[in-house]
Amino acid sequence: MLAIATRCTAGLLPRVTRRWLSSDKYVNGFVGAIGNTPLMYIKSLSKATNCRILGKAEFMNPGGSVKDRAALYVVKDAEERGLLKPGGTVVEGTAGNTGIGLAHVCRAKGYRCVIFMPNTQSQEKIDLLRMLGAEVYPVPAVAYDNPANYNHQAQRFAADLPNAVWTNQFDNRANRRAHLETTGPEIWDQTGGRLDAFTCATGTGGTLAGVARYLKTRDPRIRIFLADPPGSVLHSYIQSGGQLAERQGGSITEGIGQGRVTNNLKPDLELIDDSVHIPDEKTIAILYRLLDEEGIYIGASSALNVVAAVEVAKKLGPNHTIVTILCDGAYRYQSRLFSRKWLESKQLVEAIPEHLRKYIVL
Ligand code: PMP
Repeated sequence: MLAIATRCTAGLLPRVTRRWLSSDKYVNGFVGAIGNTPLMYIKSLSKATNCRILGKAEFMNPGGSVKDRAALYVVKDAEERGLLKPGGTVVEGTAGNTGIGLAHVCRAKGYRCVIFMPNTQSQEKIDLLRMLGAEVYPVPAVAYDNPANYNHQAQRFAADLPNAVWTNQFDNRANRRAHLETTGPEIWDQTGGRLDAFTCATGTGGTLAGVARYLKTRDPRIRIFLADPPGSVLHSYIQSGGQLAERQGGSITEGIGQGRVTNNLKPDLELIDDSVHIPDEKTIAILYRLLDEEGIYIGASSALNVVAAVEVAKKLGPNHTIVTILCDGAYRYQSRLFSRKWLESKQLVEAIPEHLRKYIVL
């Protein structure tokens, strides 16, 4: 009623007063819709652990993932530093989600977008990038110290092009700042500061480092747990007190796991209290369980984060609040995660509880 009255009388008032009285709650385009995602209480797992397990629904960002935040921040940073001018080109090496965020932001701001990605990533992500107008170069997935690695290719491509910027998400700390200034404060507000632990896996490390720094600054008692998939060296790095092992094996998760300590993570390593290693069997089982019990349809990195939250709950004991990140939806990976053939090739069908195998529909 008040809103209607305000709208009716607003037309008779001077423009400045009208602006103050406006009840419109719109955001400014794609970019304005990034962030302020819901924090979801996950009932079944909270009950099972006697804790509060909360997942930050980053799949509800307009580009569909947690990386929309970083994409916006690295572009804004390049603009502010005068590296990116109207009509310019953004070049990035990415497993996909940062690229998708960048492709959206570039369309919204009028930049060209060029993406280099390892050719091991899902077809859905490549297709989406192209639909969003990005130029995509899938390249062989080789280690970081190989000059043919997708990041180095992106860097060289940008260096050879006028008015182009390599946004360098792995080592550019504008990525971490996105989470320090938005994700962290949102989690604090949404829990009223009542949380005991935060856990998530890392790709660039931006989410973990930014959120950890913010939360620890507000309350140093909040415990930070790094969650790590097979094929990543970070869990053993933390457990061994700083020994960097060779990368071995791999995981069904995409966008997480590291062979090195990135610049986004390094200065905040001291904030990590402990780490948990999560095998793919647990990740796929919880991914199907969340779909069945909660109607939550998330990708494998999110599922791994949720397993980690449960492990942390078990470590801390009853009556604790653990927050994690639901990075993106399963839409981006469904030709794999819901395909019997693909699951068989990874020997993961048996890991899915029998009554949930009805969801394997492809
Ligand atoms: N999950 C998915 C699906 C991702 O694409 C990424 C980013 N590569 C992450 C998690 C990790 O986020 P961050 O780069 O902030 O560590």
